Amino acid sequence: LARNPGEAEFHQAVTEVFESLGPVHDRHPELLEAAILERLCEPERQIIFRVPWTDDSGRVQINRGFRVEFNSALGPYKGGLRFHPSVYLGIVKFLGFEQIFKNALTGMPIGGGKGGSDFDPRGRSDAEVMRFCQSFMTELYRHIGEYTDVPAGDIGVGGREIGYLFGQYKRITNRYESGVLTGKGMSWGGSLVRPEATGFGTVIFTQEMLKTRGSSFDGQRVVVSGSGNVAINAIAKAQTLGASVVACSDSSGYIVDEAGIDVALLREVKEVERGRLKDYAVRRPGVSYVEAGSVWDVDATVALPCATQNELDGDAAARLVRNGLVAIGEGANMPSTRDAVSVFQDAGVLFGPGKAANAGGVATSALEMQQNASRDSWSFEHTEQRLTEIMVGIHHRCASTADEYGEPGNYVLGANIGGFVKVADAMLAQGLI
Ligand code: NDP
Repeated sequence: LARNPGEAEFHQAVTEVFESLGPVHDRHPELLEAAILERLCEPERQIIFRVPWTDDSGRVQINRGFRVEFNSALGPYKGGLRFHPSVYLGIVKFLGFEQIFKNALTGMPIGGGKGGSDFDPRGRSDAEVMRFCQSFMTELYRHIGEYTDVPAGDIGVGGREIGYLFGQYKRITNRYESGVLTGKGMSWGGSLVRPEATGFGTVIFTQEMLKTRGSSFDGQRVVVSGSGNVAINAIAKAQTLGASVVACSDSSGYIVDEAGIDVALLREVKEVERGRLKDYAVRRPGVSYVEAGSVWDVDATVALPCATQNELDGDAAARLVRNGLVAIGEGANMPSTRDAVSVFQDAGVLFGPGKAANAGGVATSALEMQQNASRDSWSFEHTEQRLTEIMVGIHHRCASTADEYGEPGNYVLGANIGGFVKVADAMLAQGLI
């Protein structure tokens, strides 16, 4: 920790993984001898760069860009780019570190990495976002590639941004290298189901947890945080499975829609108009909008945090548990604080950690890479079927690992050990690198 001062989120993510790994070292002392843990915590490469661009008024703006190439034991670095004012090295490293284990759990041949910038796309015109993305890629292009490092989207980076980034990569390199980025548009190398995959996958994973208690999403009262890519698609999938999703949020407030959220209207407001949740409430009778406040004040039997890290603390967790929560599936990365995770686990709530529950996005990115490599494009049904199999497989891997290590139902332990063992074995086999 002393080597990485001031990187609170990175410390949190590392501590959580390390706390699960005691039993692995008892069984496999060779991993300790090979300093696998120390090597895992040190990224293979970290790139930090200046991103200059001009805004619509002609003023020069400077942002900071990051790409942390964490671990390539299983395949090329793979992980999203986040554009949000809170981005700094500690956030990128926590996300990259989590990504190593998440990608291992998918069973696909992908290593772990993450990147982004402290650029805030909110309130920026399309032209400003394009100029920023072009400048960002003008440095990033030399570090990435189909066989090296394959970025994708995350907070603040969706189809529009991936388009601008891909266009600039193609222009600089003079190569139509589809496999260099994932999350592309359908007509230029994207995969069906990729936009839906993280939210859908989170719900599929949570449904698998519910099944272990003879239950399902049918009839559940669900609360979701966020109203971006992951949240909207989680809401849609949960409702398809018979749940009533009654609340969701953005960083300004939350809505309560007791009739069940109207996904078509939500998509119109957030994806087409790029508006705020407040606009949804204005357009739909009977919906209340609560400025500020916490969406976790709304009672639920299933909670799906899909916004950002550390958005659900111990007090909110205790309130949810008191009000009848039975399951929580993390669509976001590390949305629950360490206190919150303890509260859920002590109360016997089914808890699906992000590195397992939200792996559907990166898994479908790997499916996009497969389609690019074979110059093919699969149907929605086939791709969704693959996603479902992958999520069921991840659930099985976490559950059986937790059983094997004597803690049945502990998905945190199952995910951390399951991901770690796979990466550690590959690192051992590849020598001291
Ligand atoms: P989006 O940018 O599409 O949406 C993010 C949502 O979260 C918005 O509603 C945003 O509100 C809200 N939010 C973001 N930051 C904050 C904050 N500091 N406080 C409160 N609300 C906030 O991002 P995604 O849906 O893609 O990502 C959401 C989460 O899912 C992240 O943790 C991401 O790492 C994780 N994830 C995403 C994957 C993907 O495929 N996209 C894959 C795996 C994980 P507002 O608009 O007001 O900012």
